[in-house]
Amino acid sequence: MAKRDFYEVLGVAKSADEKEIKRAYKRLAMKYHPDRNQGDKESETKFKEIKEAYEILSDAQKRAAYDQYGHAAFEQGGFGGQGGGGFGGGADFGDIFGDVFGDIFGGGRRQQRAARGSDLQYNMELTLEEAVRGVSKEIRIPTLEICDKCHGSGAKEGTSAETCSTCHGAGQVHLRQGFFTVQQACPTCHGRGKIIKEPCSKCHGDGRVERYKTLSVKIPAGVDTGDRIRLSGEGEAGEHGAPSGDLYVQVHVRQHNIFERDGNDLYCEVPINFAIAALGGEIEVPTLDGRVKLKIPAETQTGKMFRMKGKGVKSVRSNAIGDLMCRVVVETPVKLNEKQKELIQQLGESFGGKSGEKNTPRSKSFLDGVKKFFDDLTK
Ligand SMILES: [Zn+2]
Ligand SMILES: [Zn+2]
Repeated sequence: MAKRDFYEVLGVAKSADEKEIKRAYKRLAMKYHPDRNQGDKESETKFKEIKEAYEILSDAQKRAAYDQYGHAAFEQGGFGGQGGGGFGGGADFGDIFGDVFGDIFGGGRRQQRAARGSDLQYNMELTLEEAVRGVSKEIRIPTLEICDKCHGSGAKEGTSAETCSTCHGAGQVHLRQGFFTVQQACPTCHGRGKIIKEPCSKCHGDGRVERYKTLSVKIPAGVDTGDRIRLSGEGEAGEHGAPSGDLYVQVHVRQHNIFERDGNDLYCEVPINFAIAALGGEIEVPTLDGRVKLKIPAETQTGKMFRMKGKGVKSVRSNAIGDLMCRVVVETPVKLNEKQKELIQQLGESFGGKSGEKNTPRSKSFLDGVKKFFDDLTK
């Protein structure tokens, strides 16, 4: 897909000033922010696009390069990201949100010398009942916390970090690259602006230590697979006292052996015997709140769906309540005794001949169709 023009993405004129660009970005970022549009892929893509456009247009140098060379100015690794917190935790805790959620509103990374902590993801399996009713769960997660020995500075007790002599504390250096000058993280201090001569013995200069923490997570009623709950500030601690990342609890609902869920509706299949199907009657069907009675009208065919209003799932996002859809399946009787066999035999015989045709309209129309098919073949 061709990349859209950055000005177009933000909906501003080419001549827009910094303030206008910032305002447009904030407005759009709010609108398409993933937290407000959970599970909406399109919003997520839009949000990334907006963020990228803002990153370029809010930086005078990058903007100038873009105005002159268009998207080509940033291809082949050009500016790249400045990294989002570096070291992803365990195998299941990759920093997949770091890039999207890294710097949300206000400020951004530029003024922030040390990187914000990585966001963490925790995959939580729930039963359907838990997801529908809501539940509180304790989780144990490996995370990085601020080192209590150096209070996050990374420097040994009694010493402190020194200002980097290469970048004079800016954390950035300017390099000429082809047509223009680019800003890069300082190679001496890796963007921190400070050098630690004597690192803290506990965290080895990182300012953070690994620790397991237990958190109680409240899952709201109505969540479904793909929903995500954000625990602000419960991600990894930032480097050298920078803000912590967030923790995202990703919900996965296990398969249920009776109900299948589709949005707010639940589906289930209920077998009925063939006498009830023919003559009508009342059966019991399961719902999440217990058994309820369901009237089956006479002459019910197999596969018929009955809708039970309001017996589905209450939406996590609104007051909407789904329905329970019961699909009845007529069961062929098995292990018949002699008497039963005899009765069915008689019933079957009564279906034969012209007079029985009206009892089996579907068979009749099918047989008529078959007959026509063969007649046509031999014509
Ligand atoms: Zn330390
Ligand atoms: Zn430096």
